[in-house]
Amino acid sequence: MHAQIVTAARRPLVPAELPDPRPGQHQLLIAVRACAVCRTDLHVVDGELADPKLPLVPGHEIIGTVADKGAAAERFAIGDRVGVPWLGWTCGVCEFCRSGRENLCDRARFTGYQIDGGYAELTLADERFCFAIDGHYGDVEAAPLMCAGLIGYRTLRMAGDARCLGIYGFGAAAHIVAQVARHQGRRLFAFTRPGDQAAQDFARSLGAEWAGPSTAQPPEPLDAALIFAPIGPLVPAALAATKKGGIVVCGGIHMSDIPSFPYRILWEERIVRSVANLTRRDAEEFLALAPAAGVRTETVIYPLDRANDALGDLRSGELQGAAVLVP
Ligand SMILES: [Zn+2]
Ligand SMILES: [Zn+2]
Repeated sequence: MHAQIVTAARRPLVPAELPDPRPGQHQLLIAVRACAVCRTDLHVVDGELADPKLPLVPGHEIIGTVADKGAAAERFAIGDRVGVPWLGWTCGVCEFCRSGRENLCDRARFTGYQIDGGYAELTLADERFCFAIDGHYGDVEAAPLMCAGLIGYRTLRMAGDARCLGIYGFGAAAHIVAQVARHQGRRLFAFTRPGDQAAQDFARSLGAEWAGPSTAQPPEPLDAALIFAPIGPLVPAALAATKKGGIVVCGGIHMSDIPSFPYRILWEERIVRSVANLTRRDAEEFLALAPAAGVRTETVIYPLDRANDALGDLRSGELQGAAVLVP
């Protein structure tokens, strides 16, 4: 099968012909129809995440059809359409798994990081971590739901019932979360890179009542802020825009260093927290909510062989919505 692979950190992906994978006991062999490109892929390629499997097929927002399956795989039939997320395997027995926090599993393994992912014609996935995909969505349109959607949703959940919601960084995750937040009746304020008029217009088109540069104060204080851009200085910026008791949630896996800031912007019971990975419960909830909330995704299609271009456009902030690779 054809794939685009990471051979070493800070090198472009290279095309490769790999043997067709064979499914183990609980695994599905999946013919990849679409795989969205996540900022985490960029962190892997750029060597910002420690110890990826190498060589590696990246990609963890996979939509495909079941082509074959292992002897113990019973949840899906051949030909079924499934989605494969970042969470690829958990142990089921550690203290985190046993307390509903499998996203923090001590031995968790992640798709497109420790397990080969979806920048390929075929991939394997443990069926216990795969999901059925609602028929409202085409393959390309569904792909960004698998991480930008799922982890974006978990990030939104951590904001509690915040009514005035700020979003910093208006990329793939934000454009999905914005639609869910509006569906939930929240008020939305969008912060983009200074001067990024296109992103501010995009945010307004998705229901933001105000959009401006990340250096600006919103027209009124926020109940919570979600940060999707991997930029540490946004943490004190978001704290300064948040009212007493407010929550600042960092939704990414990696961020540049957070500069020091005066305690007074944290005081009055403001909270800063991160979100790591997802649980299968997050996925079940979000994949049921997305069609009910009328969530649509904005995508830019790239053929699989142009994966490096997709990563480059994501890095430079050129994209509106999500890049999706199609083999
Ligand atoms: Zn991701
Ligand atoms: Zn565990």
